[in-house]
Amino acid sequence: MTHSDDNSGQAVTELYQEALSGRSVFKSVREKVRNIYVELLSATRQISNVNNCVQFPYYHHVFSDEVIGFESQLQYLKNYGDFISIDAAISILNSNSEIEGRYFCLTFDDGLSCCYKYALPVLSKLNIPATFYVVTDFVGKTFGPNSSVTRKTFGYKGIETSIEFMGWQQCREAIGEGVTIGSHTVTHRRLSQLAKKQIIYELEHSKYEIEKNTKQICKHLCAPYGVPELDFDLIGHGELASKLGYKSFATGARGPNRYGQALMALQRDHLLANWSNKQLKYFFSRE
Ligand SMILES: [Zn+2]
Repeated sequence: MTHSDDNSGQAVTELYQEALSGRSVFKSVREKVRNIYVELLSATRQISNVNNCVQFPYYHHVFSDEVIGFESQLQYLKNYGDFISIDAAISILNSNSEIEGRYFCLTFDDGLSCCYKYALPVLSKLNIPATFYVVTDFVGKTFGPNSSVTRKTFGYKGIETSIEFMGWQQCREAIGEGVTIGSHTVTHRRLSQLAKKQIIYELEHSKYEIEKNTKQICKHLCAPYGVPELDFDLIGHGELASKLGYKSFATGARGPNRYGQALMALQRDHLLANWSNKQLKYFFSRE
């Protein structure tokens, strides 16, 4: 069963290679060069075991050809800290004292079905909690390669396969495996481009839909696109989210969260599951 707008007959994207198929040679080469550069930079870095912080690694997708890389990244990070749920992370950041040790709080943006299919079994196996931020209007839907949702909203340009989002039943099953469902708004539009009334709708209605369908209180929000001041107003939208009942607001700004970090401005480190552990070392040794 599909609920699509124009996915006439195209298979759902299962491989990272498929998701990349529309990318230009220039972009592919640039990414390879960048990967080599980051690996070189990582040579002199060390990840300390005690770093007094909570770090939020985040992914958008774990396709079937990324499962091995994903598991090896989690195994690697396990050497340096404990994986905790977002509620535990918030209570540690909220406590009135210096953080002892290093913690990782794993999050996934967009609610793609590949995260349910391929990431969740690994999380269950390793007993790692995580948060899936879902876009409530897209839950249970599939969009063909030519859909504006596929191309413009999520940037899968030129791919030949459809993108599929988790359904509510999958969200509920994920909760049973230790996942928290957070809001990634109703329609994944840039908050900075919306009128206040629309922003309230994006935050309030997504929270309502998640609570109705999961029977869990939705306490955690993640801003679409994620760049503070460009995609959303860090202070203003954080205050609004807090007024509407959210306890945390995740951004795409990199860096560790230390004692005193604003809960409505959480910093996270974006990862691709095909990156080497040297690249992880680079990002997680940043002060
Ligand atoms: Zn997103």
